[in-house]
Amino acid sequence: MGQGNGLMQGKRGFIFGVANDHSLAWHIAEQLHQNGAALGFNHLPNPKMERRVRELAEPIGAKLIVPCDVSDDEQIRAALHQARETMGPLDFVVHAVAFASRDALSKPFYATSRADFLQAMDISAYSLVAVCQHALPHLAEGAAILTLTYMGSVKMIPSYNVMGVCKAALESSVRYLAAELGREKKIRVNALSAGPVRTLSSAGVSGFGKMLEHYPTKAPLARNIEAAEVGKSGLYLLSDLSSGVTGEVHYVDAGYNVVGW
Ligand code: NAD
Repeated sequence: MGQGNGLMQGKRGFIFGVANDHSLAWHIAEQLHQNGAALGFNHLPNPKMERRVRELAEPIGAKLIVPCDVSDDEQIRAALHQARETMGPLDFVVHAVAFASRDALSKPFYATSRADFLQAMDISAYSLVAVCQHALPHLAEGAAILTLTYMGSVKMIPSYNVMGVCKAALESSVRYLAAELGREKKIRVNALSAGPVRTLSSAGVSGFGKMLEHYPTKAPLARNIEAAEVGKSGLYLLSDLSSGVTGEVHYVDAGYNVVGW
């Protein structure tokens, strides 16, 4: 089990979005594993990503590692079905997936092409709806779903562009999903809004280095967050510690979002 306290003992869940050991999904996975959870993972359907995810997930005893591109409903359905077959009813699902083309993250927002806008929305926002839809028959009563978001949903952040629009849709989806799934099976749905952390995805946002320099000058804690802090708050939102919390956007950003100047 590791350094945890067994908070997730007997719990099992599936994690979408590990690409490497910098991935926020991986930091959440580490906390869940250390606290006793059994885990399944997806990888993008190509040999390089499969190898990367296997290298990380096999040593922590992953119960299954399956290909899944979230822009394909059939792949989502198959992954979650296989997770249920292998592990039994799922107690949690982590959705830590986003994509926008390099063009969309570097050109002015008004220049976003229709195709780039729709692709970003599909992979970064609709995929949460699809994941909930296909997970529902396999979720245990009282299960928890967690997605990852960023403050670019509610404020203009330079270069975040279409991804900010996607995150607004994602956060709104969290509220609708929470209302419906809470009534259906007491399922909780929350979003964790992380401050900037260097990962494969964030490297695609032009000027990301400037963001990392800027946060400590304004954030109440006068620093950037560490990825492990996303892991710890993710554990809280997926565990019984947050049993009364749903439909929330929970900021883990050293307090940056509360500062108005
Ligand atoms: P990451 O690159 O490690 O993770 C993004 C994941 O999305 C990767 O595993 C990638 O394979 C996956 N993905 C992309 N397209 C996919 C598709 N079509 N099908 C399946 N998977 C696909 O980067 P990350 O920063 O850990 O991102 C995880 C989440 O955290 C994203 O939603 C991101 O927007 C969010 N987030 C990141 C930061 C940050 O600063 N890093 C801040 C706030 C929120």
